[in-house]
Amino acid sequence: MKLDMKSLFFDEPLSEEVTPCYRSVVLVGPPGVGKGTQGKLLSKIPGIFHISSGDMFRELDEASELGQLFNEYATRGELVPDDITVKTWQKYVRNKIEQKIYNPETDLLILDGIPRNIAQVDLLSPYINVLIVLYMVCDDREVMFKRIQGRAIKEKRQDDKDEYVVRYRWDYYKRFTEPIIDYYPQDAIRIIDADAVPADVLHQILSVIVPIQKKHFSPPLV
Ligand code: ADP
Repeated sequence: MKLDMKSLFFDEPLSEEVTPCYRSVVLVGPPGVGKGTQGKLLSKIPGIFHISSGDMFRELDEASELGQLFNEYATRGELVPDDITVKTWQKYVRNKIEQKIYNPETDLLILDGIPRNIAQVDLLSPYINVLIVLYMVCDDREVMFKRIQGRAIKEKRQDDKDEYVVRYRWDYYKRFTEPIIDYYPQDAIRIIDADAVPADVLHQILSVIVPIQKKHFSPPLV
């Protein structure tokens, strides 16, 4: 599909505006490692706002130009181009702030699925202050492929049905996403053993982010 960025974002002079630097935790891990499961659990906690870029795209109106574009990329297991992804993300975050769902003053932002490569790390850097990177590790590819097969049935995700597409996403992760771990300052990286039951993984994540929340935010009003 030939893309006309102007028609997708014609009324949004996003990049010129001054945007606050959202205090964030970045989740990094391969498809199927459990980022979504953990993200959903974390989003229940007051003072935490979780964004999954995959969910952000799946929420788009399928009939819209951007929705159709996303479908084309996602069914092949490919990424939406970086500039479109980051602009979509900026717009999405602003909507959440306007709707008073996310308050950057009081909420720690958890990013899941974005940034996905070094170019996206750079494109996002004016907008986010990365406090910590949680590196979710599970080296057993087959365990993750099984989880994805289960998710394909439960969530009816087209991109999870085709084994070729799943393996392609895995390869992309290894080649382009995992290297962002070396790109960030090494003292910001925390390893999470994701080859464990969800409660255990959550426990590990909380032991990292609770001190971060205490250090950078006032206690949330519940
Ligand atoms: P996965 O289980 O592969 O991690 P996601 O739910 O994160 O899947 O993403 C699904 C699809 O959404 C991707 O295949 C891609 O087309 C699109 N997508 C999600 N995040 C990004 C991103 N940061 N950059 C570009 N495309 C993205």
